[in-house]
Amino acid sequence: MSESTISKVVIVGSGQAGVECAAALRHSGFAGAVTIIGDEPDLPYQRPPLSKEFLKSPADSSLPLKGEAFYGQNDIEVRLGGFVRRIDREAREVELASGDKIAYDHLVLATGARNRFPPVEGLDPSLVLELRTLAHARALTARLEALKHVTIIGGGFIGLEVAALLRQRDIAVDVLEAADRLMGRVLSPMMSEEFRKIHEEIGTRLRLGAVATQISGGTVSLSDGETIETDAVIVAAGILPNVELAQDAGLAIENGIVVDANLVTSDPAISAIGDCAAHPNPWGLGMIRLESVQNAVDQGKCVAARLTGTPAAYDALPWFWSHQGKAKLQIAGLAMGMDETVMRGDPADGKFSVFVYRQGRLIAVESLNSPADHMVARRMLAAGLSIPRDVASDPAVDLKTLIPRPAA
Ligand SMILES: Cc1cc2nc3c(=O)[nH]c(=O)nc-3n(C[C@H](O)[C@H](O)[C@H](O)COP(=O)(O)OP(=O)(O)OC[C@H]3O[C@@H](n4cnc5c(N)ncnc54)[C@H](O)[C@@H]3O)c2cc1C
Repeated sequence: MSESTISKVVIVGSGQAGVECAAALRHSGFAGAVTIIGDEPDLPYQRPPLSKEFLKSPADSSLPLKGEAFYGQNDIEVRLGGFVRRIDREAREVELASGDKIAYDHLVLATGARNRFPPVEGLDPSLVLELRTLAHARALTARLEALKHVTIIGGGFIGLEVAALLRQRDIAVDVLEAADRLMGRVLSPMMSEEFRKIHEEIGTRLRLGAVATQISGGTVSLSDGETIETDAVIVAAGILPNVELAQDAGLAIENGIVVDANLVTSDPAISAIGDCAAHPNPWGLGMIRLESVQNAVDQGKCVAARLTGTPAAYDALPWFWSHQGKAKLQIAGLAMGMDETVMRGDPADGKFSVFVYRQGRLIAVESLNSPADHMVARRMLAAGLSIPRDVASDPAVDLKTLIPRPAA
């Protein structure tokens, strides 16, 4: 079926990617039916505030991705609390747990991810806390008042954002990180090290190279024989993409739902976007899955553009942010395969950037409390330009002057 004959788009997943795709379809003039099916009961919401503003002040947090009226005004049908249990590729329809069947001309899988639970004896998902959904965040905030000590499994972005907020409430925190540095999957060693200092300064107990082996009552046992007495355990050990629906339908899966450069799965009538999609990303090395708002938004727009007649390969520059106490981190690009880093600024001033290189070429910039560096990095990287190492580290150079001016 060619794009011009598509009149029914069904989107599975009411997260950032699914909602952006629906909005972009309407924005691009798509006049057919658009249906979003999501298994969560809440009006589609943003996840980043769940580990930031929401934990500080749930009442003030503005979470909805779009106001309720948006969906009606744009003729987007939203079926909340509906779990899609099967795709019938031949009949081109999805089947909900309720038994309802909905036909599609094109199906967009935006099924996101769920938290990964490491193999720890006694780590029962029903007993520990986690943070992926609004329901999880509500459960955590309901217990905050009574907590004196929390153990967080995982020294990644979410675990550390929560740790910083708990410290602001004077709750004692142990963070267990199996690797030898914080946020090691994404950050340069230089920036990881600065975050180690930041978290230690606010009184978080960081246990690097520590693996939890057992949880029993209020005791967490570690592989080195140590034990921690704690009031609560929060699991923040990464995520697993929700691929089962696609897998059961026979689509190619490999660390996510496999898509091509245009975000099409192994079935041309099905696309996949956001946290669940393993895609060829020109800014990375090989097939990757990104877990960020930027990726969810831009992939949603990319699919909508294709379905409305302007196909293009997905090539948006990855960028990301994380707020950990007073430390506002922004990342432009991907540091995969890095072989050199250069510091601009001085961590002692509380703001600096790490410029990350691969074979002499700038591939990413990690900025701490330095939004101007981040904006320059995004502009330069997106334009395919590098910044020489000696220029990046020279405080006398105003980096903004490097951005090429648009032709008059
Ligand atoms: C606490 C937290 C903080 C974060 N902070 C940041 C940040 O600071 N910056 C940043 O860039 N990113 C951040 N992220 C990541 C970002 O929020 C995600 O990358 C983004 O929300 C992914 O959107 P998505 O639509 O792909 O997936 P999701 O948001 O996971 O949405 C997928 C939806 O599909 C539903 N679903 C799955 N299977 C089915 C099915 N079979 N039937 C029906 N529904 C189904 C799921 O329940 C879910 O509601 C954060 C994430 C979390 C959890």
